[in-house]
Amino acid sequence: MCGIVGYIGYEQAAPFLLGGLEKLEYRGYDSAGICLNDGEKLVVKKSKGKLEELKKLTNNGNDIIGTVGIGHTRWATHGEPSDVNAHPHLSDSCRFAVVHNGIIENYLQLKDMLTAKGVKFRSMTDTEVIAQLIEYYYKGDLVDTVIKVLSKLDGSYALGVISIEDPDEIIAVRKESPLIIGLGENENYIASDVPAILSKTRSIYRLENNEIAILRRDGVKIINTDKDEVTKQVETINWDIDAAEKGGYEHFMFKEIMEQPKAIRDTITPRIKNGRIVLDEIKLTAEQVKSFNKINILACGSAYHVGVVAKYIFEKVLRKPVETDLASEFRYRDPIVDEHTLTIVISQSGETADTKEAMKEAQRRGSHVISIVNVVGSAIASESDDVIYTWAGPEIAVATTKAYSTQLAVIYLMAIYFGDMLGTITPDEYRNYVSELESVPDKITKILEEEEHVQYLASKLFNSRDVFFIGRNIDYALSLEGSLKLKEISYIHSEAYAAGELKHGTISLIEKGTLVIALATHEELIGKIVSNIKEVQARGANVLCLACENHQELKDVAQSTIFIPHSCDMMLPSLAVIPLQLFAYYVASLKGCDIDKPRNLAKSVTVE
Ligand code: GLU
Repeated sequence: MCGIVGYIGYEQAAPFLLGGLEKLEYRGYDSAGICLNDGEKLVVKKSKGKLEELKKLTNNGNDIIGTVGIGHTRWATHGEPSDVNAHPHLSDSCRFAVVHNGIIENYLQLKDMLTAKGVKFRSMTDTEVIAQLIEYYYKGDLVDTVIKVLSKLDGSYALGVISIEDPDEIIAVRKESPLIIGLGENENYIASDVPAILSKTRSIYRLENNEIAILRRDGVKIINTDKDEVTKQVETINWDIDAAEKGGYEHFMFKEIMEQPKAIRDTITPRIKNGRIVLDEIKLTAEQVKSFNKINILACGSAYHVGVVAKYIFEKVLRKPVETDLASEFRYRDPIVDEHTLTIVISQSGETADTKEAMKEAQRRGSHVISIVNVVGSAIASESDDVIYTWAGPEIAVATTKAYSTQLAVIYLMAIYFGDMLGTITPDEYRNYVSELESVPDKITKILEEEEHVQYLASKLFNSRDVFFIGRNIDYALSLEGSLKLKEISYIHSEAYAAGELKHGTISLIEKGTLVIALATHEELIGKIVSNIKEVQARGANVLCLACENHQELKDVAQSTIFIPHSCDMMLPSLAVIPLQLFAYYVASLKGCDIDKPRNLAKSVTVE
C-alpha cells in the first residue's frame, strides 16, 4: 500500500534510498526503514514516524555503508505503526531481508506453522512471515527459494528481497501491487512508484503479476515462476515529478477514483475464504449479535453517507432497526443506547473528533462498538471494542472516493456475515451475495473504462448553477454522496432529496434548465422515480438519469443517461457512485477548481 525503493550498484545505497523514500512521502506513511548489505551482514535501521527520524538515526544515510539495499515507507495493515513493525523485516538469523507492500492473507497459518518449527518472530506484521519463510526454505538458491515461498502466499504483494547469501542481487516480485524496475548504467533500482527513481533513470520495466526480477549491477533478468525468461519492453517515462506522483494523472482524486477496484479487492478478498465471509478480527459472538435489538451508526461527512446506505442494507438483510446519526448530533441529544445496541462508527482517518467523542458516549452507555477505519492504530481503531480495517491504502485527495467505496464494501461484508449468524438470509442468498460482492471490482473497472461518456456529459452541464440529486431508497442514500462530492470540489450549489419528498417543498426551486440528477438503480421503485423525473421536467428541469443497463427505456425519459452494469440491489451503490465521482471530478476540472484541496476543507477533521 505504501512505498518501496531498492538499489544495487557501485555507489553508496543509503543516500539514494532515503532520497527515493522522500519522493514517496507524499503518499502518506507511518514509519520508514532501510536495510543494506555492508559486506558482512544485513544492517537494518527503521523508525516509526517521519523520514526525518530515520535520517537522524542514520546520519542522513552516511552511517550505513553498502552498495545494495532496500527501503520502505509503511502504511500499516497488520500490526500498529511502531519501530519493530516497520519494514524491512529480517529472518530469524538475519540472513534475509524483505520489504513488502500489500497484505498476506494467510499469514497467521504460515506464522503458526513456522512458530511450531521454532522460528522466533519479532513483529506483529504479516510481512515478517515472508522473510522467515525464505530462510526456512533456503537451500542455496535465492531465486528458487523465492519461487517456492510465493507458492505459499495468498494475498497481494510487491516485494524486494536481499540476502547475505547472494549479496550481489536484489529479487523483486509482484502480485496485485505495483512494482517497477529502473534501469541504469552499472546500477539498477526497484520502486513501487516512478517518483522514487526519477532522479536516476527514466527507463523502466513494469513488472506484471508473478514476474520475478533478478537485479544485478550489470543487468536485470525477468523470469516467470517456471523460471522461463520473460522479454519485456523498456518503457520511457516522460512525466515530470508532479505527474509521476499522481501516477500520470492530473489529480490525486482521479488516481484514487481509478484505484477503487484494487482498494475494494484488497478489502474483501482476505475476508472471503472458500465462499465464506470470515471476519475473525471481530470478537462478537453469534449470541451477542442475536442479543442486539438495535444498530446505531455514527459518522460524519461521506462516512455518514455510507451509514445511510448501511441503514437500508442492514434493515433489509438483518431485520433489525438501524439508526444512522451524525456523530456531532448524537452526543448532545441524550441518545437511547445501551448494552443491547450495537454501535458502528465509520471514519477514514480514525481520528475524526466528532466520531471519536460520539463513540465514547455510546461506550459509556454500555454499547459494543465496531469501528470501520482506514488507518491502523488510529485513536478510533484503538479505542473501539472491535475494528474492521478498510484496506484502501493512503488517500490523499481531500474529497474521499476509495475510502468511501471500501467502507461500503465492509458494510456488505458485515451484512452477509451477520445475516448468516442471525439466520435472516438463506444459503442461496448468501452464495449470491458473496458472488455479487466478488464481482464488484470488475464491474467498477468496466464503468471506469467508459468514463469518457461522463466527461462528455460534464462538459455539457458544468455551467449549472444549482443541481438537485434525487433518488428513492438506497438511491436516496447514494444521492447524498453524489451531491456532496459535486459541491465540495466544484463549489456548485447542490442538494440531495428523497425523490418522494420533492413535491413537499423543493420542487418550487426547479426552473427552466435546472439540472436534476435522478438515480434510478433501485429496481422496485423505477416506476416511481420515472414519475418524479416527469414532475421536474414539467417544471423545466434538465434531467440526467443514472440507471442499470437493463433499463435502456430510460433513454426516452431523461435528457441524458448513464448506465451501469446490473448487480444485486445491495451492491448497486458501489457501482453507481463511480459515475457520480467522475461527474463531480470533471465538472470541478472544467471549472478550474483546486480539486485535491478544495477551499476551507481538511482531510481529517480533528476538532469538534
Ligand atoms: N501489510 C504490511 C504491513 O502491515 C505492508 C503494509 C504496506 O503496504 O505498507 O506491514
